[in-house]
Amino acid sequence: MTGVLDAPSTLEPMTQAPASSPTRVVVPKPGPSLSQIFNVLGIAAIHVGTVVAIVRGATWKLAALAAATYLVRMFAITAVYHRYFSHRSYKTSRGLQFLLALLGTTATQKGPLWWGGTHRVHHKYSDTERDVHSPLRKGFWYAHMGWWLGREHEELDLKRIPDFAGFPELRWLDRYHAVGPIGMIALLLAVGGYDAFLWGYVVSTCALMHGTFTINSLAHVFGSRRYATTDTSRNNFWLALITLGEGWHNNHHHYMSSANQGFFWWEIDVSFYILRAMEKLGLIWELRTAPAHVLQRNLIKEVGERSPLLAPQATNAEPLDAPPLGRPSLGDV
Ligand SMILES: [Zn+2]
Ligand SMILES: [Zn+2]
Repeated sequence: MTGVLDAPSTLEPMTQAPASSPTRVVVPKPGPSLSQIFNVLGIAAIHVGTVVAIVRGATWKLAALAAATYLVRMFAITAVYHRYFSHRSYKTSRGLQFLLALLGTTATQKGPLWWGGTHRVHHKYSDTERDVHSPLRKGFWYAHMGWWLGREHEELDLKRIPDFAGFPELRWLDRYHAVGPIGMIALLLAVGGYDAFLWGYVVSTCALMHGTFTINSLAHVFGSRRYATTDTSRNNFWLALITLGEGWHNNHHHYMSSANQGFFWWEIDVSFYILRAMEKLGLIWELRTAPAHVLQRNLIKEVGERSPLLAPQATNAEPLDAPPLGRPSLGDV
């Protein structure tokens, strides 16, 4: 498998934020939308189903099934939706790109284009009023789930993710992202029956959603800061553990295009270990990692804090590259 996967040139490459997005203010139409109703009812059903599953109890087999479907899909969210579709931190073939995206849809967090495009907005406007889910601006619950359930961010805006929007199969998958969860549920029911569905999908998806959402709600509040990013991102060992490496969030905001978020050997990053193994197998290539000089740049212990929310006074931090590390253009993700 050789070559570099490039999106078909049906959409222009994005070198700067387009005028229409994401700087535009999206004014949702009044009243709930169909997808919002589906999301709210779906999340409610998953929580009720989790309680039912716990009341019914689990065997070791069912618990192992729940753990396995959690881990595989957490990998799909962190290593595929996040590190690949949001930040292009490695390359792969068009076929595997689709299969990985399909795996990502089973996490029931919408499609890869919507997920990646919306996440890019978080990096562009981290902890400002335009951030999609800043707990510092809009509180814990909005950052955790409210933004996901509301109407203001439900639109798919292909201009946010032009590097992948040119693939018709990805646009199809994004539109029909329910095929992943439906297929997974059908398989679990067919092979293992009702309890396999409850533990392998419902309980697992409940944990997966909250696990993923903690990066939005907690990784900007609890943990330590190594790098003087202009946001409030933090490194948190426990969040890294449950999200297979995403908890090194301050590292990530410092250098977001890196395929590894644990920058040092003691920073556990299971997703990256799996990506390295996939690279050895020739499934993916050109994994991007932070250069040595980047690891030593803008350390808080040397330059002080510079997040406006944490240190109102400017410090003697190095002048930022263009675009700033904490405020990249959408083309530099
Ligand atoms: Zn963040
Ligand atoms: Zn990111």
